[in-house]
Amino acid sequence: MNFNKCDKIKVSVVAPCYNEELTILELLRRITEVCRDVVCENYEIILVDDGSTDATWQILSDFSSRDSHVVSVKLHRNHGHQLAVTAGLAVARGERVLLIDADLQDPPELLRDMMAVMDHGADVVYGVRKERKGESKFKLLTAWMFYKILDMLSSTPIPRDTGDFRLMNRNIVDVLTAMPEHHRFIRGMVSWIGGNQVPLYYDRDARFAGVTKYPLSKMIRFALDAITGFSTVPLRLATWLGVIAAGVAVLVSIYAVYRWLTNDIVPGWASTLIVSAFLSGTQLVVLGIIGEYLGRLVEEAKGRPLFMIGAITIKGVSYSVPMNFSELSANDRLKCLQNIMQEIPAEMNNDYVS
Ligand code: UDP
Ligand code: MG
Repeated sequence: MNFNKCDKIKVSVVAPCYNEELTILELLRRITEVCRDVVCENYEIILVDDGSTDATWQILSDFSSRDSHVVSVKLHRNHGHQLAVTAGLAVARGERVLLIDADLQDPPELLRDMMAVMDHGADVVYGVRKERKGESKFKLLTAWMFYKILDMLSSTPIPRDTGDFRLMNRNIVDVLTAMPEHHRFIRGMVSWIGGNQVPLYYDRDARFAGVTKYPLSKMIRFALDAITGFSTVPLRLATWLGVIAAGVAVLVSIYAVYRWLTNDIVPGWASTLIVSAFLSGTQLVVLGIIGEYLGRLVEEAKGRPLFMIGAITIKGVSYSVPMNFSELSANDRLKCLQNIMQEIPAEMNNDYVS
């Protein structure tokens, strides 16, 4: 495969990996098999190590020394799933890009169907989960609630029961990587871009090995990123809560004045307590909602790089990219990657996984 001819890469497969030492080899075997079947040698597999603490990076870099289709990207630290995906997209050079999780919950073999749908004019083919094996009742319930709430609040229609498992064309990928927000909700951002987006229904498997890398705290943060990123309705909700609280306060004041006028002044500590508790509770909720938005605004205003790549390993050799790689334009990123690819000896042969 000649890496210098970027137009030859028909599909890039991007997978974020965080402590996935148990799944990577099987992941690579299945992706390689389907890619070779669909586009012969014209593919690349980009695996992003999101600051793993297990043997993930060791396995990835070993593997890329044996198979030049595999590009291993090491992030400087754990940036989180959505930014790891973004880093992978920034490195991807294919005409089309498949996003997939590393745990094999989404079958890579669906690439065949997705490519066929895209051949008929789709810009994005996104997986919609019919059945979800191996997920806890709690996860299913919270996911259902999350999409219901998001549906009510978001002005961008975001399809339910989807993940980031999707095939996108080059235009969509370029727009997506040019979007600068740090708090990313990629499936929503792709919906926002629009174009011809087509669902593909499938049964989601259980994790191949290992445990979920999304504990409850990360799930809550992810849900808040989605809601604050796609709706300002909660801010208006704060206004309405304020209006209701003020209305109640007016009624209580009228009642208090009436009692004072009729000389019927009883030391009503209970009512005072209830009213003050209600008002201070409402105020704190309102402040909290504003804080969620304000905090994100502060982080966006800092304008820090979205992610930092420590190294890119191809054919067992580590290359460095500029620290501001995430801020480069699509063209400059491509030039930078082409420079790296030119350093790779032309006689390099490929040993594929069988
Ligand atoms: N992941 C990541 N960084 C993180 C957490 C997760 O790159 O900080 C990756 C993880 O390795 C997997 C994908 O994101 O490939 C989805 O994570 P997981 O399967 O654990 O989430 P779940 O399917 O349980 O929601
Ligand atoms: Mg998973």
